[in-house]
Amino acid sequence: MSHDQSIPAIVIAGGGIAGLTAALCLARVGLASTIYERASELSEVGAGLQLSPNALSVMDRLGLLPALQEVGVAANHVSLKHGASGRTIAEVPVHAGDGTPYLSLHRADLQAVLLQAVACEPKISLRLGAEIVGVRPGEDAVDFGLANGGGTVVADILIAADGVRSTVVRQLGLAPAAPTGTTAWRTTIETEGEAGSVAGIRAWLGPKRHAIAYPIRAGRAVNLVLIARSEEGPDAASRVPAGFSHWDEQLLRLIGRASAPTPWPLFGAPASRAFALGNGRIVLVGDAAHAMAPYAAQGAGMAIEDVAVLADAVARTNAPRAAAERYEAERRPRIDKVRKRVGFHRFVYHLAPPFSLGRDMALALRPRDALRADLAWLYDWRAPVLATDRPGVAGIDGPDGTERGAASDRLP
Ligand SMILES: Cc1cc2nc3c(=O)[nH]c(=O)nc-3n(C[C@H](O)[C@H](O)[C@H](O)COP(=O)(O)OP(=O)(O)OC[C@H]3O[C@@H](n4cnc5c(N)ncnc54)[C@H](O)[C@@H]3O)c2cc1C
Repeated sequence: MSHDQSIPAIVIAGGGIAGLTAALCLARVGLASTIYERASELSEVGAGLQLSPNALSVMDRLGLLPALQEVGVAANHVSLKHGASGRTIAEVPVHAGDGTPYLSLHRADLQAVLLQAVACEPKISLRLGAEIVGVRPGEDAVDFGLANGGGTVVADILIAADGVRSTVVRQLGLAPAAPTGTTAWRTTIETEGEAGSVAGIRAWLGPKRHAIAYPIRAGRAVNLVLIARSEEGPDAASRVPAGFSHWDEQLLRLIGRASAPTPWPLFGAPASRAFALGNGRIVLVGDAAHAMAPYAAQGAGMAIEDVAVLADAVARTNAPRAAAERYEAERRPRIDKVRKRVGFHRFVYHLAPPFSLGRDMALALRPRDALRADLAWLYDWRAPVLATDRPGVAGIDGPDGTERGAASDRLP
């Protein structure tokens, strides 16, 4: 949009990783936005996250990388291990040639860094306890209600960053995300300087299940995730899944110290789901657009990439529809490729003998440079330059209790 034309009223549904980062990227290109988050307080459940250099290049553009490096732990490689013996099968390099790190960190730490940046940004208005309901796309605007008599909001662009169980997706009558039949049991273990905290990112592979552990909280804790088929029975979800009992001692020690892992059934959004809807007035980002199982550790990474690309697209064109189409055209091939990689990891990680022996041999024989090159398309993606010369307008209220999303002017 040219800088002297009217400024779109942009609203964001959801204040998770995608929503907060979206508002920051938009502010970076000079655009104001309002985030509506249904939770009255933004508190993250205790769990970790890996962020690869592609996602962190966005954080770099936002000036947040130093703060994340303070709370995260940088990795050079991911160790793939034989589940039962603990033998290292291969070390897959994850570092980037340009020095952008690969970090493992606690989600609460990431969220705190994002929230702090949001609080310092006058172009962002964050409404907590504001649940979006009743979304209605129109020809040249989109409107939605806020639960509990919170009124109606009219916007030029609604960015749906409301997660895997997206209300916006449901309201538009799209097929919901479906269970994958697997569950992730997640927990964190305090380590305070013990060896476990410096052991790096480790993934133990075995038939139909795998486990992954990595340091978080600047090395003061370890995040442990066990992934296996969802189990049946009354208390099945709350106990540590069966099948890991004869695995590597190192892993069993971590499991032994894990108190009450939180079960997290894994869902996947249909690959056919469009990202741009309602005449381009509604744009899906993050899990709302393309939730996928975490076998490539890229869900948040793709959400972060999405919103940088979207902010860039909105800054470049003077029509929401054109911006939404540009965003979808750029993101779809990449998301499809990541989804394929997720399927590949699920297949390869969970192989049983004798096929797993072939996998182990192929991985062991592959040179490190080749392993790194296999993932160059993923990790070497870099964020667009987010220009900062666009004037923004803070959110305002319209007549008769109708809220304007984020700007006083509308697009023609
Ligand atoms: C076990 C596991 C491990 C993972 N590991 C990794 C990893 O290592 N690396 C990685 O990149 N990704 C990982 N992921 C994926 C990652 O967690 C998600 O992709 C990411 O959190 C999605 O962010 P989001 O902002 O799109 O959605 P969410 O984080 O779900 O945020 C959605 C927000 O919208 C709000 N909301 C919902 N409905 C409404 C409404 N109607 N009105 C207003 N607000 C609403 C919610 O309260 C929430 O705050 C993992 C996922 C799992 C399950």
